[in-house]
Amino acid sequence: KKATSKDFIELENKHGAHNYHPLPVVLAKGEGVHVWDVEGKKYYDFLSAYSAVNQGHCHPKIVNTLKEQAETLTLTSRAFFNDVLGPYEQFITRYFGFDKVLPMNTGAEAVETAIKIARKWGYEKKGVEENKGQIVVFDQNFHGRTTTIISFSSDGDAKRNFGPYTHGFIKVTYNDVDALREVFEDNDNIVGVLVEPIQGEAGVIVPSENFLDNIRKLCKENNALFMADEIQTGIGRTGSLLAVCGDCTCKGHCEKQSSYVTPDILILGKALSGGGYPVSAVLANDEVMEVITPGTHGSTFGGNPLGAKVAMTALEVIRDEKLTQNARKLGQIFRDRMEKLITKTDLVCLVRGKGLLNAVVINDHPSSSTAWDICVKLSENGLLAKPTHGNIIRFAPPLVMSEEQLHECCDIIEKTILNF
Ligand code: PLP
Repeated sequence: KKATSKDFIELENKHGAHNYHPLPVVLAKGEGVHVWDVEGKKYYDFLSAYSAVNQGHCHPKIVNTLKEQAETLTLTSRAFFNDVLGPYEQFITRYFGFDKVLPMNTGAEAVETAIKIARKWGYEKKGVEENKGQIVVFDQNFHGRTTTIISFSSDGDAKRNFGPYTHGFIKVTYNDVDALREVFEDNDNIVGVLVEPIQGEAGVIVPSENFLDNIRKLCKENNALFMADEIQTGIGRTGSLLAVCGDCTCKGHCEKQSSYVTPDILILGKALSGGGYPVSAVLANDEVMEVITPGTHGSTFGGNPLGAKVAMTALEVIRDEKLTQNARKLGQIFRDRMEKLITKTDLVCLVRGKGLLNAVVINDHPSSSTAWDICVKLSENGLLAKPTHGNIIRFAPPLVMSEEQLHECCDIIEKTILNF
């Protein structure tokens, strides 16, 4: 007898740690904007593995690269050089306009790496007294799950009973430039400001237009590093190559890096591999990256030839298929259509986002199950999305979607919500 969705769910419940609360859908196949469950039901994916599969599921070019490199050389460790890492480092630093890259595997590791770089830079370059360095972070941030990162989380579940926590972080209200300015006035030991250009997990919170500009300015004035966590927002998702690009006129793919608010440290993950393999990266210029010397940081898998090759192809796909531009165009259509819903039902109270990172806020208490129940209904109607922070539904499809497909998806969402 063929195993059913129920069987697979039972297996996970019985043998896996319960650290997630998934929608009751068991996926077995993916291609482009679609996924299929074990019973063969087809869905539009509107989560894209938390924005990791911007290039679409199982992109043939990425899969090919993965296969070819997997048959050639997968892992050398950094005890030796390999013939893919150098070309990758040249490729990615040119692509994003930085001198150097430090390759890691997961998002949280890349954030940890950035924190370490900023602290070391603070002591060795800025002259902050050792162990006194502070990093400014923002309320409702999400940067990952390690002990240090959850130390400055605002999320009780993420944090409770995981102490003792790591010191050295000052939390400021997101989008509040005055609060940030005050913190700088009160403190000479700030080595960096760590920010999500749009807060994804918090519910796709888009800051006011000059917020990032102001962070850039304050960091410059106070000799602190502007650290942009673009793990979720980066690589085309928001209709710009990076969300720090804002609405620059480069048509979505900066050739001249000067046209955007350049962070001192850029943190990437997720779509850097298009979902084919865990790849993350920290980019910075020489003045910052040179604080990292042999023995001060590393990772067995970081910079492995398989991940490096996959990342190059994943970035090529973004550029060659103009996915950034597509995200910008489709995002506008999506928000226009969802905003029309506000006039048709009391269930939807707000639509926000940029490019194809959007949220629909459901008019109910965050502790209600309404958004979850709507997502269950959406899945029955062939579209997968997940609530974040209770009453907010994030809609983030792969960027390879066509306009026609997007309209079909908007029809599904509209119908589901109006019949709810
Ligand atoms: N930073 C941001 C902004 C994220 O959205 C995420 C993941 O959702 C992370 C960091 C952590 O990445 P990972 O889950 O790969 O550790």
